[in-house]
Amino acid sequence: MQKPIVAIVGRPNVGKSTIFNRLVGERISIVEDKPGVTRDRIYAQAEWLATTFHLIDTGGIEIGDEPLLELVRQQAEIAIDEAHVIIFMVNGKEGITAADEEVAKLLYKSNKPVVLAVNKIDNPELQSEIYEYYSLGFGEPYPISGAHGRGLGDLLDEVVKHFPTLSRNEKDDDIIYFSLIGRPNVGKSSLVNSILNEERVIVSDIEGTTRDAIDSYFKKDDQEYTIIDTAGMRKRGKVYETTEKYSVLRALKAIDRSDVVLVLIDAETGIREQDKRIAGYAHDAGRGIIIVVNKWDTIDSKEQSMKTFEDDIRKHFQFLDYAPIVFLSAKTKKRIHTLLPVINVVGENHAKRIPTNVLNDVIMDAIAISPPSTMKGKRLKILYATQVSVQPPSFVIFVNDPELVHFTYKRFLENRIRESFGFLGTPINIFARRRQ
Ligand code: GDP
Ligand code: GDP
Repeated sequence: MQKPIVAIVGRPNVGKSTIFNRLVGERISIVEDKPGVTRDRIYAQAEWLATTFHLIDTGGIEIGDEPLLELVRQQAEIAIDEAHVIIFMVNGKEGITAADEEVAKLLYKSNKPVVLAVNKIDNPELQSEIYEYYSLGFGEPYPISGAHGRGLGDLLDEVVKHFPTLSRNEKDDDIIYFSLIGRPNVGKSSLVNSILNEERVIVSDIEGTTRDAIDSYFKKDDQEYTIIDTAGMRKRGKVYETTEKYSVLRALKAIDRSDVVLVLIDAETGIREQDKRIAGYAHDAGRGIIIVVNKWDTIDSKEQSMKTFEDDIRKHFQFLDYAPIVFLSAKTKKRIHTLLPVINVVGENHAKRIPTNVLNDVIMDAIAISPPSTMKGKRLKILYATQVSVQPPSFVIFVNDPELVHFTYKRFLENRIRESFGFLGTPINIFARRRQ
């Protein structure tokens, strides 16, 4: 389930974001019909040769008023820390600069696979200019043009060659894998500690596949759990660790490996734009989601009741209308015992399978109660439905013409499925396919 991560590094203006947008293509502008999903243009999924990977434009990670060399150096460090493969981009029109050499030095020491891209080679005559870039020490330079989209295929072919085999099969179906995500200081580490200490669980650290990923395994009442990437929450004292975009990136890696994601919100500071962005990734990834309002001890319950807070969350996180909300305090451990039972329910729902005959009874009843309206003089016919996968539960409805499936009707069917089968905490997908 973990996807390879590719980072683009290079000094400003070499064309990183131009290439990023080209590689990510239309995926970044996927239309979400629920409001509240805000997207960040620094991280996105891209695809090449049927392989999906995460792409990071490190140039978009602002680190403050750092001088150019320092900024570029820190962005390269992030790429080295986070990525499996690095695209080192230089400007073919300007030759090698001091900043390029600075980046090269760091990348060289990192022992990560690096593919050198020489951008702005807008026409084939400029091809001969790329040879000077061999001197950077990363082997063959790949000439590309962000302006014309030239050379990207060859570049990606090379990038994909360096993808590691990530531990897909190591997941155990009996274990619920979950992670905690949220802004810096919402209390992620505190909550992990509270769960592990308070719940009288049997704990062991599992060394992950990546250098700094340490997962915590524990067992409680015969249910096994693994908290993903708790080491990722440990602060390592790097300057960029407190920047928003970096924390989103850490979250992204943890989400990838989880069944259930706890989206932490700080009751003391309230909901911030950043919370929504982080939650949006968990939603997009199709994970089970629980919204955890931490630091509930700081709230005078008379002043701000749970109901008010819940209304506020529902208003700001409309795209997470399926997610349960848990209020607790990692510090005083109040209400902490309410968390694991909800994780169990969401974990189960995320993996739930509905038998085809039962599903079809529900769908046919729904159609009988509220038949689809006509579109352009044609009426949608739904022949039958079946669940095609879990985690998240995904359904296919076979119809006379998929074009006739309006998103509001899809939403109606989703609601009927939820009412009938109780998919609390998990997103569900419905796809329409043609069947004569
Ligand atoms: P970043 O700072 O590295 O992300 O660079 P940008 O993607 O913002 O690009 C910097 C400038 O270079 C912009 O004006 C782009 O339009 C331009 N640019 C990007 N790729 C190419 C290219 O292949 N050829 C030319 N001529 N210009 C490009
Ligand atoms: P992280 O950056 O998300 O891992 O957050 P930490 O776990 O490091 O917590 C950040 C700060 O919030 C620390 O000073 C904690 O003591 C404090 N904190 C965490 N949970 C709670 C809580 O439930 N109530 C209160 N009052 N403070 C908390």
